Amino acid sequence: MAIDLKSLTISKARISLERGDFTAVSLAEAYLSEIKKSDSSIHAYLEVFDDVLEQAKLADQKIKRGEKGALLGIPLAIKDNILIEGRRVGAASKILEGYVAPYDSTVTRKLKEAGAIFLGRTNMDEFAMGSSTENSAYGPSKNPFDKERVPGGSSGGSAASIAANFALAALGSDTGGSIRQPAAFCGLVGLKPTYGSVSRYGLIAMGSSLDVIGPLTKNIKDAEILYSVIKGKDKMDSTSIDLDDNLKIPAKMRVGDFSDFIDMVGKNGIDREVLSNYRQSLDKLSKLGYEIKKIKTDVTALTYSLPVYYVVMPAEVSANLSRFDGMRFGFYKDGGSNLLSDYKATRGAGFGKETRRRIILGTYVLSSGYYDAYYGRAVAIQGLIKETMAKIFEEVDLVATPTTPTAAFKFGAKVSNPVEMYLADIFTVTANMAGIPAVSLPSGFTEIDGKKLPLGFQLMSAHGKDQYLFKAGKDFLGE
Ligand code: GLN
Repeated sequence: MAIDLKSLTISKARISLERGDFTAVSLAEAYLSEIKKSDSSIHAYLEVFDDVLEQAKLADQKIKRGEKGALLGIPLAIKDNILIEGRRVGAASKILEGYVAPYDSTVTRKLKEAGAIFLGRTNMDEFAMGSSTENSAYGPSKNPFDKERVPGGSSGGSAASIAANFALAALGSDTGGSIRQPAAFCGLVGLKPTYGSVSRYGLIAMGSSLDVIGPLTKNIKDAEILYSVIKGKDKMDSTSIDLDDNLKIPAKMRVGDFSDFIDMVGKNGIDREVLSNYRQSLDKLSKLGYEIKKIKTDVTALTYSLPVYYVVMPAEVSANLSRFDGMRFGFYKDGGSNLLSDYKATRGAGFGKETRRRIILGTYVLSSGYYDAYYGRAVAIQGLIKETMAKIFEEVDLVATPTTPTAAFKFGAKVSNPVEMYLADIFTVTANMAGIPAVSLPSGFTEIDGKKLPLGFQLMSAHGKDQYLFKAGKDFLGE
């Protein structure tokens, strides 16, 4: 039986596998054949694993024995910053060349226990820094909707893999928008869970106080399925937490219209199509019985989310990436006379330009004499951002924004001006600064140069209230 990969979801595939419509092997073969046919022009994967069919055979045996597993036989793509024991992992950086994961991340351990099959590791911006995959040391991924355009980033390979039918679903990581922005650019659902609700153990760190692993999927139900497998407190990550599974969901949810915030950050950089799509999405929720409300709380502090992010995040990056010194992991370049010259040679050649830029920026804002002026102030404003969001969630249950100010942009469009690239995160970073959950939902298309490009609608909810997003997402997408 030919499998219709385009319309397949995790829940449908699970039913078909149980019923014997197709086997896990034939499902995996279908994906492998698509990858073989077309990934040379998309470059979603850095590596397709050579034991996919063996993994699938094992899944079929388990299905035959009547074993259960929420993801038994489900083929997934994994971002290249999440460790899978015994496999290469490298955060798309040259500095980790040849590095093999010595242990499983908590999320991959849980996925294995649930029966998932790993197809391969997906391309990304180096160390998850970027919005386009153009910072990958291995070349960018293309957007399957228009190959002249970026798939978003940093989890761009994960998003492209699903949109091109190279995987049923994928894992990404989100520090400032890296799950939601590529999801929006590729017409998918992308969930950034509450900070700490998914263990970071075995995630190659970017900004540890912001990083969170989450799913990219075709619909919200699949996101919920993946999330429920990977979530939970973990003794290997002291910042991890358990959330209340039996949260009461309000019968009529109130949604905050964020037009004031959009006005304050300036409409100029935001596409008209994006704004009208946003209004339409709010109307849709209103017709579904949601109460749309203007927010009364002063949102000024939130206009500092992006600048504050670009102080706090590089500070953490500079600390986290100090371990890559040529001595312990991957790549080493002989610098000549002494240890310091080895460090310089290794880090100079092993890290890409954007990574070096952020290490330097982060080291600067943490240095004595500047710490109080930059890092200290940024953390203080981060406190105000958290307080502002908490206040907003006394008024409303959800806050809505566009996910991105534009649809997918062309390769090279923002490479020469880093600040322009950073502005792609204007709507997504607030959720990371506040530690709250947020989801990007596919909300339609815009047409540019005769090509249809997807747009995303973002919903945020209060800390720990990820379930509100599932409920609203299902209503919005009609699932
Ligand atoms: N695009 C953002 C950045 O470059 C977000 C990255 C992320 O979430 N990992 O930092």
